[in-house]
Amino acid sequence: MTERLIAMQVGAVSFVDEGVAPVLDIFQERGGVNALFLATPTWTRGTGGRQLPGHPLPDHGAQEYDLDWVGGNYATVHPEYYGGTMLGPAGRAPEHPGWDIFAEVLPEAKARGMQSFAWIEESSYAPELRRYPNFPKCLEVDAWGRPAPRFCFNTPDYRTWHLSIVEDYAKSYDLDGLAWCSERPGPLNMLMQGPVLPGAITCFCPYCQATARDRGIDVRRAQEGYRKALDWNAQVASGDRPRDGAFVTFWRLLLQYPELLAWQTLWTESQHQLYRDIYGVAKACKTELQVGWHVYHNISFSPFYRADQDYEEMSRFSDFIKVVTYNNCAGPRFYTWVENICHSLFADATPTEAYPFLLKLLQLEEVPYEKLPSTGFSADYVRRETERAVAGVDGRCHIYPGIDLDIPTRPRASVRRDKPVDALGTTGIGGGGIPDDAELTQCTREGVKAAILAAFTGGAQGVVLSRKYSEMRLDILAGAGDAVRELS
Ligand SMILES: [Zn+2]
Repeated sequence: MTERLIAMQVGAVSFVDEGVAPVLDIFQERGGVNALFLATPTWTRGTGGRQLPGHPLPDHGAQEYDLDWVGGNYATVHPEYYGGTMLGPAGRAPEHPGWDIFAEVLPEAKARGMQSFAWIEESSYAPELRRYPNFPKCLEVDAWGRPAPRFCFNTPDYRTWHLSIVEDYAKSYDLDGLAWCSERPGPLNMLMQGPVLPGAITCFCPYCQATARDRGIDVRRAQEGYRKALDWNAQVASGDRPRDGAFVTFWRLLLQYPELLAWQTLWTESQHQLYRDIYGVAKACKTELQVGWHVYHNISFSPFYRADQDYEEMSRFSDFIKVVTYNNCAGPRFYTWVENICHSLFADATPTEAYPFLLKLLQLEEVPYEKLPSTGFSADYVRRETERAVAGVDGRCHIYPGIDLDIPTRPRASVRRDKPVDALGTTGIGGGGIPDDAELTQCTREGVKAAILAAFTGGAQGVVLSRKYSEMRLDILAGAGDAVRELS
């Protein structure tokens, strides 16, 4: 077989803080890494900047939080590629001015035989994007006809801006590939999986409405259905159980407004059309560029989102798919996820009741619900999810499971289960509901090794060490090296 890809997600700050050659030395020696996912552009702390403030700094890099981190494009922005979009050549990160991540890292990586990918984070919820000129003209629209904070995939200027970044990267740099990331679940998934505010339920902009009419979807009925579904969501979230129960009442809405389902599919296909466009544009600029997608953690937790993200279909416009299988943080994350859905679609049940049934639907076997925060998911979860993806794409593209190396488990204190998700908290992952004094599961060197071996047992062609080097301890990275040595 071809060499297994062992990729590391890493942001600009790590190279600036620690030096390009020393960082690559550590990746190769400790982690057996042979590929880089270079985080640019990114406006999220999940992939950019140093450790999340409030979490322990790892044993390398600057021992100080970058509290005023903003994010953006860490490469040189070449304005000639940004024609046809009123957003223009926006996006250069304010950090490390004059320092170009590709110019600095690619020659050194190439000399070592390491592949380099641009790791592109849409970061639709990041406040900085709304500060750029004209971005507020590309917003989604909610069920009440009001612009919402995130950007619509069907807005030509927003699509073109993303395709401009792709063209810029493909033509300006000697990259091996692009990995594109958009962590958004769509309106119906949001409504089902927890309490939400109206701005999270989208998109009814003129472009989406026109697309819907092309498909024969009744726009007025869809908006009406989503307004009623929002009322249902608010009622159930408040603890007021509908007479026939939360689930039956919701199902009745689906029967009365099949447009609810049609609009969710319209939303997902609009997102996937941007994937197709990125794929085609990247290949047109540089045939040999490998293009793929990050599929976020919701695919492990939500049977509804899982149904949306069909690997068979995705394999038609992918060279690879990075499937998130973060097994350690999955414990606390799924604990909260189950809590949330028990304040929405499954409000007729308690989390302890809903959890075993959800595991069955998801084809998983994990520890009892109350042990999730302190235990996490098993390495076997990584194998199962990898096997499912490998079978789904049926050899048409590679599967690179994302492996959890020290992803913080403590939820942000500001997000609680009793606070509905607004439009800027749209991933539906993370959140509160875990007691502040709970002992939370931690990554171990042995656990990382086991997860990587499980991914390859499941048939993966590679793995992506996630989410960013600046949050990983060196001993945890050594778990990847242990796995690579055992495989060779
Ligand atoms: Zn729209």
